[in-house]
Amino acid sequence: MKTPRGFSYAGIHCGIKAARKDVALVFSEAPCSAAGCFTVNASRAAPVRDAERRLPAAGVRAIVANSGNANALVGPEGERDVREVCGAVARALGVDPAGVLAASTGVIGVRLPVQKLVSCAPALSAARGTAIELAAEAVMTTDTRPKLASRTLRVGDAEASIAAFAKGSGMMAPELATVLAFITTDLAVTPPALQSALAQAMRASFDMINIDGDMSTNDAVFALANGLAANAPIEEGTPEHALLAEALEAVCVELARQIAEDGDGATKLLVVHVSGAPTSEMARELARVVAGSNLVKAAVFGADPNWGRVLMAVGARVGSRRWALDPERASVHVQGVCVYADGAPTGADPTALRAKMREPQVTIDVGWTDGKAAATAWGCDLSYDYVKINADYTSLTHASPDGTIARDDRLTNYSPGFKRALLVEALSYIARFTNTRAVIKYGGAAMVKDSLKASFANDINLLRSAGLLPVVVHGGGPEITDTMQKLGHGRSEFVDGVRVTGRDDVKVVEMVLTGKINTELVSLLNQSSAHAVGVSGKDAGLLRARKLVGEGGRDLGMVGEVTHVNRDLLEVLLEKKYVPVVSPVGLGEDGEGYNINADAAAAEIAIALRAEKLIYLTDVPGILENGELVSEIAASELVRKIADGTIKGGMVAKTKSVLRAIEGGVASVHIIDGRTPHSVIAELFTDRGVGTLVKRE
Ligand code: ADP
Ligand code: MG
Repeated sequence: MKTPRGFSYAGIHCGIKAARKDVALVFSEAPCSAAGCFTVNASRAAPVRDAERRLPAAGVRAIVANSGNANALVGPEGERDVREVCGAVARALGVDPAGVLAASTGVIGVRLPVQKLVSCAPALSAARGTAIELAAEAVMTTDTRPKLASRTLRVGDAEASIAAFAKGSGMMAPELATVLAFITTDLAVTPPALQSALAQAMRASFDMINIDGDMSTNDAVFALANGLAANAPIEEGTPEHALLAEALEAVCVELARQIAEDGDGATKLLVVHVSGAPTSEMARELARVVAGSNLVKAAVFGADPNWGRVLMAVGARVGSRRWALDPERASVHVQGVCVYADGAPTGADPTALRAKMREPQVTIDVGWTDGKAAATAWGCDLSYDYVKINADYTSLTHASPDGTIARDDRLTNYSPGFKRALLVEALSYIARFTNTRAVIKYGGAAMVKDSLKASFANDINLLRSAGLLPVVVHGGGPEITDTMQKLGHGRSEFVDGVRVTGRDDVKVVEMVLTGKINTELVSLLNQSSAHAVGVSGKDAGLLRARKLVGEGGRDLGMVGEVTHVNRDLLEVLLEKKYVPVVSPVGLGEDGEGYNINADAAAAEIAIALRAEKLIYLTDVPGILENGELVSEIAASELVRKIADGTIKGGMVAKTKSVLRAIEGGVASVHIIDGRTPHSVIAELFTDRGVGTLVKRE
């Protein structure tokens, strides 16, 4: 995006939020005229109070904005915290603290973690560049995407530009409704002229969005003009001032639409036009009332052509205001289709209308012939997700003593209704799975990252206590490669996911698989319960093997294929509810150890045990085609996907094992993402599986 001369922007992570960017900076190399419009909420936040006292002003150099914490309703410390943060940013930038403004958005009622912001000020300053997108990202809260808009304009001989970013999402209703917006321009404008142009731009833009009828404590729109376009400074009441106001309005309307479109849980943008009203006040208020009506919004969500709700909302406001305006004489159009006119329904086809209302934008027009005033308001539909997002917002975030905000997903924090639903659903699933045999191939990142290891161990123990009979088969992955290199065995060669294994290599493979990975995994599983039993494929001849010959007669060294599984050993363990943890080493007729691909070993074990489920944990979401997850696929299709090259590398060995398992009678095989914590539980205990499910046909 083209940004105005002399401005730089930054967006970094300072630790208020768990992982996402949470602090943004706007900086101008030249002093700016600055203006601001703020929420009228009487509970407004400390940075809002601070900025509105100071604006409009000249000599402003920077704005620092954080997300994750609103710095609202925290007492007199709030404003002290603002000054401390502004001071630190001013020092890092080498400017006067009086030239730095602040803005905040996020959780209300928690002290700002000042120290985090103060200590990241140098990094924030160092991160400055022209990528305004990074700053837009850093102010996001429940926004699902950054919001940006820009314009270029000519004032006299000067070419100037405007670039702006905003965040929105929820808690916003008329009287300024944006939460945060930052507009930068290289025009020269006097502070009062900038202030009045900004205020004018608000009227048809941010003042006309209604997401949920609630007014934020932190709404603030800032405009900075640094004059580097070198036009004659714009004064109030001039044609240039009108031009500026128009350009600001266009930018703000663009941001306002983006904000409405991305309202909390929104699936559709709602646009309401009111025309022919006697006064502009009436037109504006009625447009906002319709856009904000919960019943209208819910109907829009459900694509329900229930237009009666539009006139209900209009009539309610007209009545309470005692306006001389007759809703019954209005005409109503939904998606351009006239549904009500001349005092009666038009009988428009509801089925056709329903189809039109499924579009991503729904437009409602309400018109009279009484006057000439018109207005447009933007809102969004009311979805199930709005309630979910906002019912859990504070209970699902927790503030640590240093003010860090993190998500707290524990079930205790959810509403009693949600908990009930979850438990009822989960328990009925669990009951269904009692004595189900599930063979789980453990591989990829889930074997390497400590937190994932812990969640995997936790899942296996939970499955066991819920009455399932899990069997774990693990791979060796990166550890074998690392150890080989350390011991000077050189680089391993892989053929379709199978490691070519020399006679010396197989000793290393066995040492790592059985001696290290297996014992570590067993210890981890036995930390909380004591039911995991480590077995090598050699133990009791669990995996009998012979040399595997590669495609086209290729020599793969000591790579084996399973010829027989000693099911008895596993049955003895399962009988007593032990969890076998198998290291995929095969015992050859010749007494040699063979390296067996863990995917293949898992398939053979699943077949021998007549397991209902076979689950492969790996480092991709499942089988991918053109980057998209294939969530369900028939075995016959899989064969074609190997042939046409969609499936390559390590996925080939996995896919062949999947096919072998299905052929051997395993009812369902899943390939799931081991990088997501608790993916095994999610796969088994929820209706909609994760990853790829391979079915026989
Ligand atoms: P694991 O350690 O789980 O056995 P592998 O590396 O052996 O993992 O096999 C999985 C890899 O296969 C993926 O990381 C991916 O790079 C590769 N792959 C090739 N084709 C596909 C495909 N169509 N879908 C998913 N993964 C694929
Ligand atoms: Mg593999």
